[in-house]
Amino acid sequence: MTKPNRRSFLKFLAVGSAISSAGLSPAKGFAQSSAHVVIIGGGTGGATAAKYLKIGDETLRVTVIEANPQYRRCYGSSEVLTGAASYDDITITYDSLKANYGVEFLIDTVVAVDPQTQMINLKSGETVSYDRLIVSPGLDFIWDGTEGYSEAVAQGPMPHAWKAGEQTLLLKRQIDAMPEDGTMIIVPPPDPYRCPPGPYERASLLAEMFQTQKPRAKILIFDLKDGFAMDQAFMLGWNRLYGYQIPEEKMTGMPDDINTPAEQGMIDWVSGSNGGKIVQVNPSDMTVTTQLGDTVHGDVINFIPPQKAAKLAFDMDLTEGNWCPVNRVTMESSRHKNIYVIGDSCIADAMPKSGFSANSQAKLAAVQIIRNLRGQDPVEPAWSNVCFSRVNDEYGVSIADIFELDRATNKIILTPNAGGVSPLNASHQFNRMEALYQEAWLENFVADSFG
Ligand SMILES: Cc1cc2nc3c(=O)[nH]c(=O)nc-3n(C[C@H](O)[C@H](O)[C@H](O)COP(=O)(O)OP(=O)(O)OC[C@H]3O[C@@H](n4cnc5c(N)ncnc54)[C@H](O)[C@@H]3O)c2cc1C
Repeated sequence: MTKPNRRSFLKFLAVGSAISSAGLSPAKGFAQSSAHVVIIGGGTGGATAAKYLKIGDETLRVTVIEANPQYRRCYGSSEVLTGAASYDDITITYDSLKANYGVEFLIDTVVAVDPQTQMINLKSGETVSYDRLIVSPGLDFIWDGTEGYSEAVAQGPMPHAWKAGEQTLLLKRQIDAMPEDGTMIIVPPPDPYRCPPGPYERASLLAEMFQTQKPRAKILIFDLKDGFAMDQAFMLGWNRLYGYQIPEEKMTGMPDDINTPAEQGMIDWVSGSNGGKIVQVNPSDMTVTTQLGDTVHGDVINFIPPQKAAKLAFDMDLTEGNWCPVNRVTMESSRHKNIYVIGDSCIADAMPKSGFSANSQAKLAAVQIIRNLRGQDPVEPAWSNVCFSRVNDEYGVSIADIFELDRATNKIILTPNAGGVSPLNASHQFNRMEALYQEAWLENFVADSFG
């Protein structure tokens, strides 16, 4: 992939984000050319912001403070569970951002930030000052929502694998060791959470792998929700590929060629209305108990807990409730000046918590910070999100949306009549192409954020 330059960024902004190319002009007249922009978190949001700040103004000093020397991306991590991808495949280094754009990296953990003095304290004892600060620390989990569940349970018998890393490897070992006729239970979290289609894509990819490696295995999804992102598109794929019986209430708009499975298929989804909410887990006998009182055994239990902004966001007093409110035009924190919050931790209304959203918010924050440093007004914001998911290696589904600011409510809303979900009457070739687009998206997205 060719290295983007300032011109291509401006072109992207003009076309992709509906921000005029007047949004950023070359650095002439820039009053504060030595400004130091610091970014906490070298994940998807933080890395993208660093790169696009340098593309927008190469005279800026941009430093990323990141706890880990390498990033393990979540997108593609369910493929590590199935063996379709390796752990190395989801490991990203910061070499390109350093070499191609001159982004500086400090591998350390931020323990405190003083918004008055604009100083950052690191675990190592070092301090760093900033002119503008971007915070993209991802998220953390709420451990105490379900009886019997805890962080210790997640680190042992019931991993979440919702942050790629050790958890991914732990869950993979458990799946590999599952008996051929075993039962895997997946418990998706309540909204809002990172990657809304993610638990269902994970179920799909595991079913594909089980078909060849553990053909008598079952996947039970216990959901407290009555629907999920692209649910009909997923269910149609599950019906075609895994013998799934589509519930009556999801049949509207389905094509005529629905299979009627002779016996129960490999995937079963229990909705909230049908008692899918899990109220208790018992790690000692590997069971979950539903709100209807049914206790079900799983050989593997992938419990994905409720989520909230990352701990650092709470420590920095950036939160209201579980997430960080921001000025929707600029992504600047509503609580502290000169600090911008992007990615999973921020409140972005209709935008899902996804890597794509974090990338889109990062580009907006980069533009607005550069303009702010130059004494220019912010430009009108726009954002986008596309999520590709695979039902199997050759069957993809997607959802695409454009977002805009609704001035009346000051909320980010879906732009009417833009975007959409894969049609239910798509041809086989269409779904095959969607799977190929997913592959292409992944490669390009990683290059755009980290390359
Ligand atoms: C299974 C799965 C599949 C997914 N698939 C997709 C997909 O297909 N498409 C998509 O768009 N999204 C996908 N996502 C979602 C995506 O991974 C996240 O939404 C995205 O990574 C959020 O970016 P972020 O910058 O907010 O946080 P992260 O990418 O999590 O980055 C946060 C970084 O901050 C660092 N950090 C935190 N606290 C500190 C501190 N105190 N000091 C220093 N560093 C700190 C962390 O180490 C981390 O590197 C998926 C997620 C999962 C779980």
